[in-house]
Amino acid sequence: MSQFDEGAVVDDQRRRLDQIRLSGITATGYHGVFEHERREGQTFVADVVVHLDTRRAAARDDLTHTLHYGELAIEIAAVLEGEPVDLIETVAERIAATVLAHPIVQAVDVAVHKPQAPIEVPFGDVVVAIRRDRTKLPAAEPYVAASDRHPTPAATRSGPTPTAAFPVTPAPGSPAAPALPPVPAPLEAPAIAPGTAPVAAVGAGLLVAPAPEGALPDGVHATVPDVVPSVVPDEGPDAIGAPSPEQEQVPSPATGEVITDQFDRTPDAPVDVVLALGSNLGAPQDTLRRAVSDLGDVPGVQVVDVSPLARTAPVGGPEQPDFLNAVVLARTTLSARDLLRATQSVEQLHGRERIEHWGPRTLDVDIIVYGTLTAVSDDLEVPHPRAHERAFVLQPWAQVAPDATLPGLGGGPVAALAATAPDRDGVRWLALDWLTAPVPAAAPEPDAHQPAPAAQHASHDGNPVAPA
Ligand code: ADP
Ligand code: MG
Repeated sequence: MSQFDEGAVVDDQRRRLDQIRLSGITATGYHGVFEHERREGQTFVADVVVHLDTRRAAARDDLTHTLHYGELAIEIAAVLEGEPVDLIETVAERIAATVLAHPIVQAVDVAVHKPQAPIEVPFGDVVVAIRRDRTKLPAAEPYVAASDRHPTPAATRSGPTPTAAFPVTPAPGSPAAPALPPVPAPLEAPAIAPGTAPVAAVGAGLLVAPAPEGALPDGVHATVPDVVPSVVPDEGPDAIGAPSPEQEQVPSPATGEVITDQFDRTPDAPVDVVLALGSNLGAPQDTLRRAVSDLGDVPGVQVVDVSPLARTAPVGGPEQPDFLNAVVLARTTLSARDLLRATQSVEQLHGRERIEHWGPRTLDVDIIVYGTLTAVSDDLEVPHPRAHERAFVLQPWAQVAPDATLPGLGGGPVAALAATAPDRDGVRWLALDWLTAPVPAAAPEPDAHQPAPAAQHASHDGNPVAPA
């Protein structure tokens, strides 16, 4: 009965993902190659299956950890009735891109029906059905209705909009944060309702619950990923990093499956984070500019300041062009894992492909620190495990936040770490106005090992500076 390929979508541990299905979304649209189709319009119908992990939302009975299907339906209808295109293939790609712009979505199936298509023989329906995910990206941008081309309010929880304007233009020479608009009220700490299924933990800060029977495909057994407990918290029980009462250890059932850990904890107050951006394929300066803008467009993320742009020799990996690197100081109301998802969607928006570890990439976004949290799990480690030894992170960071300190093992004053980092000679120059002006030497050079012109050597206060 379904026109979809029923093949399950699995997560990176090969576990079948959950689905939210929306079918029969109907609207009058003006798509088609014939003039009368463009003039009179006809009925278009979309069915969408969203593949995602719904357990976090279910465990907390909290809408903010899943997808709001009512809002999603409106977004999909907007594509159907929006800007006309010739092909329903294009409509399907647009819907897929719009759904995948929500960071929580791992994959999406889209079917677009055109039951009144101009076909000269009797027919029942014509459907284009596609599946898109974060490796097979849609061949379209997320759709923004012409009347609605402004940043999406946080309440709709839409993903980044690649075309939006810069959220913050940092004042060169001023590391101080600009005045910030009001931050959305942080969400309440999650509470597990009394009478929920037995809850169990296998490490500090872990919350696990038994997998419902039949939740996993045959032969697939739930495992508990390694999680090293948090060590830092010194700001009291409410600080990020401190296990909240509902995340205290409790015994684990044999088949228990981790559904949340401290990386999923929504902070009680906005958290200061440091993100490191790098690019060495395509048009790196442009990519980094747009990535800063996209990060600022993520609901729950505010860009506070942006470092000068560094040109750096690649560290490790194969022979490849120089990188351009920058550091973004931001403030977020997202959990660390939601922030990771958001940064990964921004990478995907810029066509990041994970072909080769430490190989060239159009965009890499790493979470360097998330408040003072120090913790490790399968998918996330903060502070970033190599930040303390990476001059291409430490030098731009020290320029924009001279007094910053890197928490955790190997941490310390960022400026001092930057001055002694093993790859410090690889940082060739720092450019200030890179967000607003083109930096000629940012373009790839035939000989990547020649330093850029002296004019590009500038410190954060505008004075020339030798590469450290
Ligand atoms: P790298 O940045 O080290 O070159 P990748 O960008 O390919 O490598 O990241 C590989 C994985 O590292 C990601 O899938 C992500 O889950 C994981 N990871 C762990 N900690 C972090 C972090 N602090 N920031 C970003 N990714 C992280
Ligand atoms: Mg990375």
